[in-house]
Amino acid sequence: MHKDNQPLIFELTKEGRIGYSLPELDVPEIELSNHLPSGFIREEEAELPEVSELDIMRHYTALSNRNHGVDTGFYPLGSCTMKYNPKINEAVARFPGFAHIHPLQDESTVQGAMEMMYDLQEHLSEITGMDEVTLQPAAGAHGEWTALMMIRAFHEANGESHRTKVLVPDSAHGTNPASATVAGFDTVTVKSNEFGLVDIEDLKSKVGPDTAALMLTNPNTLGLFEEDILEMAEIVHGVGGKLYYDGANLNAVMSKARPGDMGFDAVHLNLHKTFTGPHGGGGPGSGPVGVTKELAPYLPKPVLVKEDDRYTFEYDRPQSIGRVKPFYGNFGIYLRAYTYIRSMGPDGLKAVTENAVLNANYMMRRLEPYFDLPYTQHCKHEFVLSGRRQKKLGVRTLDMAKRLLDFGFHPPTIYFPLNVEEGMMIEPTETESKETLDSFIDAMIQIAKEVEENPEIVQEAPHTTVINRLDETKAARQPVLRYTKEEEPVNV
Ligand SMILES: *Cc1c(COP(=O)(O)O)cnc(C)c1O
Repeated sequence: MHKDNQPLIFELTKEGRIGYSLPELDVPEIELSNHLPSGFIREEEAELPEVSELDIMRHYTALSNRNHGVDTGFYPLGSCTMKYNPKINEAVARFPGFAHIHPLQDESTVQGAMEMMYDLQEHLSEITGMDEVTLQPAAGAHGEWTALMMIRAFHEANGESHRTKVLVPDSAHGTNPASATVAGFDTVTVKSNEFGLVDIEDLKSKVGPDTAALMLTNPNTLGLFEEDILEMAEIVHGVGGKLYYDGANLNAVMSKARPGDMGFDAVHLNLHKTFTGPHGGGGPGSGPVGVTKELAPYLPKPVLVKEDDRYTFEYDRPQSIGRVKPFYGNFGIYLRAYTYIRSMGPDGLKAVTENAVLNANYMMRRLEPYFDLPYTQHCKHEFVLSGRRQKKLGVRTLDMAKRLLDFGFHPPTIYFPLNVEEGMMIEPTETESKETLDSFIDAMIQIAKEVEENPEIVQEAPHTTVINRLDETKAARQPVLRYTKEEEPVNV
């Protein structure tokens, strides 16, 4: 359904209008059938929109204005770390010396690029407390899978292929059990206790000689720090299993605590979250993996090594799980992360974590009187509210999320993690000002009041957007993406 006052006009064609001017043909015309198989030659003219260059410009600019991005507004999407991506990153990624190199160039001609990659690996080793890092994986989930394949190769090399189980807490990001399954493991769910943390007794009852690894996010997706991590590490290592750290949102602990020091054997990071690679919309990501010395022989190859002052890619790695990404991975994202780390410095990265945690706690405490807060201890980078109270008044969390659009905010992550009823997972990030946090808090408080006084306004939201509520399944499964000349009802 779209709003009557703002019709969606897609058809701009005026017959005969054109948006290009080409010079007259001044070379002999060729006979197409001499060059192309007949099935590829058009018999009728293509039906294209007939519009001017200005019409086209306005059309695409209008469409782009309907997007919501970090550069247009607040985006507190929990577990996604939608923070500001500094524009200096873009300038560096566009330096011709980086942007114009080719992945097949001889190593001797790209020593500078290799040095940047090597330095980035070193920085990430230091930040995570791991011995070696591979940059290859193209996303967080890809990093998870890469690390699990290494853990699997490790167990197999030790004659322990009977270790087929990967333990995953019930609060984990959905990619964790998915990656474990794709890596050929069976997943076993570990329960959370009443404080939202891993239930140690349940963990003890589930580990054993068949345990390959425990996958853990710390802080977990409730934004809570797993305080018993050292004990958990002992339990898992005690039965010969490995510990895997999901470090997608490292701005919760970066420069304050290191997964390596907590006892983890493997870690992945999302450069496109914590380290300011732009993300969303399916752009390139990067999910480097750090491991201990013990797992290093299994790293994807080639491994970037430094000999004297020369950088080379080492291919002779007999125990490697092999290549996980063509060429050298998403190089442009490395540059952005590298620029970010170098421009922030160690003190800057510490301030990032402090402000991410401060912002989340400030928001959580100010919203606590208006919404249910199932876990009341201090949070790290994010927190999860429950819409239970509002549900009793007939308003769902989905309605409140839609109502936030009327205030110009991107909604938080909703109905996740699964162990919170009507969950709203809010991650403000460190880059937002107090004024922005306050205006979001004000909007949330107003919505809580509307639920009590005038629930229809929330139930029928959004009211100010171009379209109202999408049939989300149909929009994903049957999108209308191709131009057709006939006036067709827009599928919204
Ligand atoms: C985002 C995220 C992932 C997955 O990262 P992708 O790059 O989307 O594959 C994994 N775990 C957590 C906790 C995340 O927030």
